[in-house]
Amino acid sequence: MDVTALNAQKTTPVAPMIDPFGRAITYLRVSVTDRCDFRCTYCMAEHMTFLPKKDLLSLEELDRLCSTFIDKGVRKIRLTGGEPLVRKNIMHLIGSLSRHIEAGALDELTLTTNGSQLSRYAEELAACGIKRINVSLDTLDAEKFKTITRWGDLAQVLRGIDAAQKAGIHIKLNAVALKGFNDHEVPDMLRWAHGRGMDMTLIETMPMGEIDLDRTDQYLPLSMLRASLARQFTMTDIPYQTGGPARYVQISETGGRLGFITPMTHNFCENCNRVRITCTGTLYMCLGQEDAADLREPLRASADNALLSEAIDNAILRKPKGHDFIIDRRHNRPAVSRHMSVTGG
Ligand code: SAM
Ligand code: SF4
Repeated sequence: MDVTALNAQKTTPVAPMIDPFGRAITYLRVSVTDRCDFRCTYCMAEHMTFLPKKDLLSLEELDRLCSTFIDKGVRKIRLTGGEPLVRKNIMHLIGSLSRHIEAGALDELTLTTNGSQLSRYAEELAACGIKRINVSLDTLDAEKFKTITRWGDLAQVLRGIDAAQKAGIHIKLNAVALKGFNDHEVPDMLRWAHGRGMDMTLIETMPMGEIDLDRTDQYLPLSMLRASLARQFTMTDIPYQTGGPARYVQISETGGRLGFITPMTHNFCENCNRVRITCTGTLYMCLGQEDAADLREPLRASADNALLSEAIDNAILRKPKGHDFIIDRRHNRPAVSRHMSVTGG
């Protein structure tokens, strides 16, 4: 399509939805499946009961949902899961949503992935206008990788990272900080990531869903990790933003950026700009709260989007001020019972 035709099609920005605390909702995260080819110990139990396939929204319905949110001012969509790239025909949805980028209605379409399927899809993703993705990687040690993901293969993920970089996609590495597991490895991972032109973000474990382990054994406050990194690296706070909750520092020695996502030690809710939908069309207004709205019913009730749009408006009015996460010995139950793989990270 030539540029004139494209410009003629460009949509004028829509005023975003505003929640009761004055926050503009411009970011939608979509869990396209709760299934995964890994079983990371902090995320899932080894034997999981997944949602029945018949309850899933079709790819066409997911497209309609996302498009309705875009019509209501959402500018960024992240596909997640479960593992988004194991959903059958996922490229069909990604290809179809990319029309909103071309039309200027969406600033960014991206995904969070464990990287296992990237070597297969990297080029197609780049062709669909995906410019940046997050890849979750908690260790560069093949044995430890197997331990933490239970079913994953590090070499396959590294091939996926290579393929994505070759296709011109920028990668940010996400690592969950796990006490006694990868804390000592973070400096090496940081040098490796920055040496390959990737930013890195550290995440605190969140108490979501029943897992087979004790979370108090895994939980590592990032304030402690940051203090120990400060003994090796010169870190300068920078105002860099990617639309997410990470706070970034620039590392002088490596020239790269390191982000900290600290839901447990620092409450970032005051700037929250996002909501999440599950693969069954449930809208969660907050990752750390149980309140949710069913969008599948209004979506299926009519071909017209009026009911759906009204259901979304009503839900946004219920977006809470913040989450209730807490991990300590007395609260060793998940703060929310659903797994991270249901609502997406
Ligand atoms: N499967 C994809 C992946 O691993 O990137 C996308 C979904 S996964 C649920 C998204 C992110 O959530 C990953 O970076 C993962 O490490 C993180 N995550 C999963 N469970 C978590 C928990 N309980 N606390 C903190 N982060 C978690
Ligand atoms: Fe799968 Fe991602 Fe959860 Fe690991 S963190 S089990 S890769 S959904």
